[in-house]
Parts: sequence; C-alpha cells; structure tokens
Amino acid sequence: MALTHPRAHGRPAGDLAAAPLFGLEPRRIPRHEIPAGELPPDVAYQIIHDELMLDGNARLNLATFVSTWAEPHADRLMAECADKNMIDKDEYPSTAELEARCVSMLAHLWHAPDPASPVGCSTTGSSEAAMLGGLALKRRWQRARAAAGRAPGAPNLVMGANVQVCWEKFANYWDVEPRLVPLEGDRFHLSAAEAARACDENTIGVVAVLGSTFDGSYEPVADICAALDRLQEATGLDVPVHVDGASGAFVAPFLDPGLAWDFRLPRVASINASGHKYGLVYPGVGWILWRDAGALPDDLIFWVSYLGDTMPTFALNFSRPGAQVVMQYYNFLRLGFEGYRSVHQYCRDVATRLATEIARLGPFELLTAGDQLPVFAFTVRGGARNFTVFDVSAALRERGWLVPAYTFPANRQDLAALRVVVKRGFSHDMADMLIADLRQQLPRLRGQPGPARHAAAGTSFHH
Ligand SMILES: *Cc1c(COP(=O)(O)O)cnc(C)c1O
Repeated sequence: MALTHPRAHGRPAGDLAAAPLFGLEPRRIPRHEIPAGELPPDVAYQIIHDELMLDGNARLNLATFVSTWAEPHADRLMAECADKNMIDKDEYPSTAELEARCVSMLAHLWHAPDPASPVGCSTTGSSEAAMLGGLALKRRWQRARAAAGRAPGAPNLVMGANVQVCWEKFANYWDVEPRLVPLEGDRFHLSAAEAARACDENTIGVVAVLGSTFDGSYEPVADICAALDRLQEATGLDVPVHVDGASGAFVAPFLDPGLAWDFRLPRVASINASGHKYGLVYPGVGWILWRDAGALPDDLIFWVSYLGDTMPTFALNFSRPGAQVVMQYYNFLRLGFEGYRSVHQYCRDVATRLATEIARLGPFELLTAGDQLPVFAFTVRGGARNFTVFDVSAALRERGWLVPAYTFPANRQDLAALRVVVKRGFSHDMADMLIADLRQQLPRLRGQPGPARHAAAGTSFHH
C-alpha cells in the first residue's frame, strides 16, 4: 500500500469557507493546494484554531503515555527555544550544554559505571533511541563475528511479542529478524526462560521492556540477565540486553529504587527512555545511554563542529528541536529527585485506586493494577455477554474520555482489554469523574441486546 493520506474522515472536500465576519473579499481558499495569495494572520489563525477544536481534549486522553500537562514556566521556556536547532552545537552552545547535563544526570540515575564520562544523547523519542540502540547491538555483533573469523550470518533480536512497534520497525528497516516470543496464558510479557531459549549465535541482543505498553507491567530484567548469564556459562554465547525503558526508566528510579533493572546489571548494555512520557516533557524528546564507550561502536559516530572543535553525535535526524531538551533540563532542575518521586507517586496512587474502583464495579477484571507503571489494563469478565471492551471505550468517548480498547498480540489475540495511562495532571478528582461516568453507562451497556462493537483493523494502540 502506498503512503497515501485519506482525505480526512468525511470532512468537506472542497474549498475552505471563511465566514463573512472575517471581512474578506469573496475568494477561493483551497483546502488541499497552497492558496495563491496571502490571508490576514488572524483569519488564518482562526480557521486553523476552529478546525483543531475537533481534536480530542489532551487532558482527557488516557490512551497516550505522552505528557499532556506542564507548568506555565516550562511552556514559556519551550516558546523561547522554539527556534533552537539541537544539531547547531556551535551556534547554541548553552542548549548543547543542557543536553550534556541531562545525559549526565541520567547516567547517575541509571547507575552507569562511570557517570563522570556518560555515553549517550537525546533523540526525538524512544523510537529513534531504539533505532540507535539496535544499530549499536547489530554493529557490535557484526564486529565480534568478523573478529572471530566467522561468516556474517543473519542477525536476530529477541523480544516479547508485546514490544512497542518501534522494535518491529527497527528489525524491518535494518534487516534483523525479529524473534518475537509469544505471550502465553496470563504471561503478558517476556519471561527469562523464554528469552534465553530464543537466543542463538546470531542474536544481537535481547530487548527487555520496562514496562510493557499493553498493560504497564515491568518485564523481569534482572531475571532475563541471570538467564543469559547461565546461557553464557553453558554455551559461551554472550548476549547483551537493551532495556526499553520508554516509560519505566523515568518511573522505577523514583518509585522502585531497590529494583535492579539498569546498569547495575552488568549485562545491560544500553537503555532508552522517552523524555516526553514520564520524563514530563512535551513531545518529542527521548534519551539513550550506553553502559560505556565499549558498548557503542565508534564507527557509528559522526562529528559536528562545536566551539571551534568537534563533538561526537549519533542520530538519525540532523535538524531537531532544542526546546524539548531545555524543558527536560527545566524539569530536572525544578523538581529534583523528590519532585519526580512525588509526581509519580501521586500518579501511582491515582492509578491503583482507580483500578481498584473499576474492579469493584462488577463486570470488569483487572489484568494489571497500576502498581508498576501508573498504568493498568482491564477486560470485561466472561459473564458480561452484552458488551465488549470496544463498547465501553465508545461509551466513555461520549463523555470525552479517551480510553483505548485493543486486542493483545500473539498468542493472546483472543484477549481484548481497555487501558488507562495515569499521568501528571490527572487527579483523584478526575478519576472520580471517570468512575461516575463509567458507572452511569453500565446499565445501558448491560441492557444492550448484544455487543455492538468488535475489534476493527486499526484499533490497536501501540503507543
Ligand atoms: C512509547 C514507547 C515507545 C516509543 O516511544 P516514542 O517516544 O513514542 O517514540 C517504545 N517503547 C515503549 C515501551 C513505549 O512505551
């Protein structure tokens, strides 16, 4: 299928119609071609503003992991930095310095062995970070094969079928076999034994997710590393682990400090995180760090000029916004460790209470409880035959709530669930309003003659 864009969902196909009150001479304002002449800025602004009103309300968007609220001071800094290009290290040395400080802070947070010499960078998000992490794994494996005088072979990457779509993209774009371990029964993510069993001499690494986008659960990173240690003792295969901490790498350090999932585990070679998720920045910024310089092959690095010298970079993009990196630094400086801890603890408190209340309503069964990521998934009990999770999602949408329903990946495609992502800006009060709306919709759903909605193509949420 070509990369074509459907003309938006039944909207008018013809020209834009500007209201007479704008005081314009009658004229054509085409919708799908660049107009011939100028419009006054206030008219152009109003037309676009009005059309955007049909977007969902970001604050009611419980589907996304991405930040939907920030302090006005952060908004102000973002606006001040809208014109900063992250790649222009020479022209914007202060922005470059703030990026370096963020990398250093993350190296400490994630227990890099030598945080004084951190190896890492910002990216547009975890997807770009995953591409970079995967490329480093692939190049390391290629080099090790060559050094051992072995034929190149066909590389594979081991991960759970629950990985975010960026890992399937990585595998597709860089010719790596995605070795997806299916879910089984009530195991909704990768297990240590399955991970080790799937590895062979062509495995460039194992991806462990903290936590899974499907249900917010943490994969057992330490157990996976231990199983790979045993594999190495038994076979000599030395398989590195990349932790996809898109959400969890900004949650676990503050809420679960005793959980060893990061560079404290010697097998963890690299970690990615989305600054724009629990890093509390607006989209898009991500981070990737490697354990040390040895984990990042130096032939992947390019050099850009910086204060009369050169500076190493590793990125897919060239130009990229600097504002989000500035906002990340603002959050670190403004909140500190204790601030992040209390923001996320509040999210977890809201998530666990909301999950408990939903379970009490009767027809729902929790798959997770919101006590790892502040995220939980729940399904409709087998006994409730009149409605599906898709009906529940639609019913909530009538009140403005965006709560996605989706089916699970192999081998649990039979399981469909709803998911709630609790983020900064979603309060206990809002949770109460959501419960009230859900409770109010239940009699109608129960009174349906049968399910009205089923999984349709394109309803699964992978973000
Ligand atoms: C969101 C997410 C990604 C993709 O991250 P972006 O920052 O949106 O590119 C990858 N992995 C996991 C586990 C995620 O939750």
